[in-house]
Amino acid sequence: MRLEQSKLSSLMIPAHAKANLSLDVLGIRNDGYHDIRSVMVKLCLHDRVYLYPRASGITLACSTRNVPWDHRNLAHRAAVRLRRELGVEAGVHLFVEKHIPVAAGLAGGSADAAAVLWGLNRLWGAGLTVAQLQELGESIGSDVPFCIQGTCALVTGRGEQVEELAWAPAGWVVLARPGGLEVPAAQAYAELDRRAGGRAGDFTPGVMRALARGGLAELAAALGNGLEAPVMYRWPEVGQVKRALLEAGAVGACLSGSGPVVLGLVDGAEQGELVAGALARQPGMEAWVTRFLDRTGGG
Ligand code: ATP
Repeated sequence: MRLEQSKLSSLMIPAHAKANLSLDVLGIRNDGYHDIRSVMVKLCLHDRVYLYPRASGITLACSTRNVPWDHRNLAHRAAVRLRRELGVEAGVHLFVEKHIPVAAGLAGGSADAAAVLWGLNRLWGAGLTVAQLQELGESIGSDVPFCIQGTCALVTGRGEQVEELAWAPAGWVVLARPGGLEVPAAQAYAELDRRAGGRAGDFTPGVMRALARGGLAELAAALGNGLEAPVMYRWPEVGQVKRALLEAGAVGACLSGSGPVVLGLVDGAEQGELVAGALARQPGMEAWVTRFLDRTGGG
């Protein structure tokens, strides 16, 4: 395939973290994945993915050694996948500036992969539609379709069906986890399978009602995640983080994705700083303040 390549010498794409306001796990599928139903939101917290076009070859460097720098990196995988799909020779050097905690339940790898698909589609002048990019993304990771396009969406299937909602939350959140703990999503789901037969949670309808009404207290009361109990059973320190968030003044809190990050809703930036400060002072805890992304791409 011959493409009209863009004249841009480089591109930076922000790759935003996602969080789950609800996560219902509906059961194990024949392909081994789980069917889910989730209200996913994007956060202002983001990695920066830089793309430098080259005549050939795909290379990658990262701002941290915490993620692989080779073909195992989801950003690298996305470039290889798109190049194969398009049948082109073009190359790219990728630099991933990581800010999203790794293996935290915030879809950092999927966000980077989505940014690469989005950016290369532009740089290589491929002209793929959002739906085509999402379909490609699905083969890289379950959260990639939402990362490609979604601000606050109902996500179903194994993550490939993304329906943007009419309402989106606004305001501040605190993210917290036991220092340095990473929870591989596969282990969180395996724990759910063992303890509850691969099925838990019915939080999504309540979260959608709360979003439609717009109140912080109602949303805080509706938050929930079917993976929370099994993850907290296997990693009890995650439960301590949730309790610490609520004690420090978060209005509501729940596990994000497969964790271990717990998302705490707070009433404003000042309260966010107070809550995050209280957590960060406790030994072995990490905390970040961020806010929900709005549809203009700002906070
Ligand atoms: P999800 O919520 O989609 O399950 P997560 O937040 O739990 O994702 P990631 O941060 O995406 O997890 O990391 C999961 C695994 O993917 C890690 O083991 C990490 O080494 C690997 N990985 C590959 N590429 C990346 C990347 N660009 N950024 C982060 N992790 C990556």
